[in-house]
Amino acid sequence: MSKNKHPETIALHGGDYRSDPATTAVAVPLYRTTSYQFNDTDHAANLFALKEFGNIYTRIMNPTNDVLEKRVAALEGGLAAVTVGSGQAASTFAIMNVCQSGDNFVSSTDLYGGTVNLFTHTLKKLGIECRYADPSDPSNFEKLIDDRTRCFYAETLPNPYLRVFPIKEVSDIGRKHSIPLIMDNTAAPVICKPLEHGAAVVVHSLTKFIGGHGTVIGGCLVDGGNFDWTKDPKRQPLFNEPDASYGGAQWGVVVPQLTGANVSYAVRARVVLLRDLGAPLAPDNAWGIIQGLETVPLRMKQHCSNAEKAVAFLQKHKNVDRVIYPTLHKGEIGERSKKYMKGGNGALIGIEVKGGVEAGKKFIESLKMFYHVANIGDARSLAIHPATTTHSQLTEEELLAAGVTPGYVRLSIGIEHPDDIIADLDQALGASGKPSLKAVS
Ligand code: PLP
Repeated sequence: MSKNKHPETIALHGGDYRSDPATTAVAVPLYRTTSYQFNDTDHAANLFALKEFGNIYTRIMNPTNDVLEKRVAALEGGLAAVTVGSGQAASTFAIMNVCQSGDNFVSSTDLYGGTVNLFTHTLKKLGIECRYADPSDPSNFEKLIDDRTRCFYAETLPNPYLRVFPIKEVSDIGRKHSIPLIMDNTAAPVICKPLEHGAAVVVHSLTKFIGGHGTVIGGCLVDGGNFDWTKDPKRQPLFNEPDASYGGAQWGVVVPQLTGANVSYAVRARVVLLRDLGAPLAPDNAWGIIQGLETVPLRMKQHCSNAEKAVAFLQKHKNVDRVIYPTLHKGEIGERSKKYMKGGNGALIGIEVKGGVEAGKKFIESLKMFYHVANIGDARSLAIHPATTTHSQLTEEELLAAGVTPGYVRLSIGIEHPDDIIADLDQALGASGKPSLKAVS
């Protein structure tokens, strides 16, 4: 059903779901159950031995989650997906599925702050080292590889700089060394498909644009099915050495044999990590996210077109010193948005309000329609002043290194009417000091 279909169609019909096999219900039903009745003891034994695939226990799989997983996989052009309790859990699983104590991975420096904490502190305590590479030069990734480097990690559209990541350039480097590129595509569903550019795995915080209504926390890993986990067995030991926790399974070998598909990464994440670490997405939350997913292609169009109009307005505003948006970068970095972003450049905008910290604070407080929240990707427009909130513990030097200047405000443009968005920005910028321009819509 999903093959050769457009995102608008996949979001509603994708993932092999036509109607509920048990009831013929058209809307995806919410299966609130922990467990599933086995047909007989052979059936139960086959499920546990992975000789047959089917439902065992909701920590590991659930029919509602299954529809969401198949649809997100289809939307990204991947082969299989695994949902987890949050975007943070998805990032954690993404790394732990390839790295063990003593291993390292190379990540882009342009990252969500929560991911930086996870990579720099928590994974380090587990013996997994993160090495940071500046993505402005893709070759920086190659310089940090050694024998124990297991993956590369980056975000498609990271704030505050909003520099589109060089996906093909870095995934080509990785593939030379049998190192998969894992892309966090949270900020760019539908408008960028990292798997088409060589990434092996996509991670999403479903909490943001895919859920889209600010109601549900969730995360997901998508296996691109395009990476050979057995090509260099020493490079990927978790897929080639026998797993003592699962009867000696060599995941890179056994999964293609059992399923006929290259979905070793997704299967290992499910049957080892979900089994052992828990953190499944609750079926209620999967159901909530499906409601958002069904309209995400439509919403992304409106987010992107509203953001473009807001950028045009903000660039001309007297009280705005600088506007940050993917298409405004010069040279090669600006070119990346043309190469990788299709149908829009996202909803996120950075602005430097004239007058520093006080002006930034005043601007936020003067917004009437925008919500002042630590979130992105809601249908509503959102704003935050990082210097006094998310980044307030940092020194002035650290703030600048993170790209957070004193007057910097992050906007996540919603799907309201663009004239109303611009009018709210206009009145709030006027309140930050000097008279404002007329809204352009
Ligand atoms: N990745 C990105 C790019 C994010 O912006 C966030 C949250 O803001 C996350 C991951 C973590 O997602 P969650 O809040 O669902 O745990």
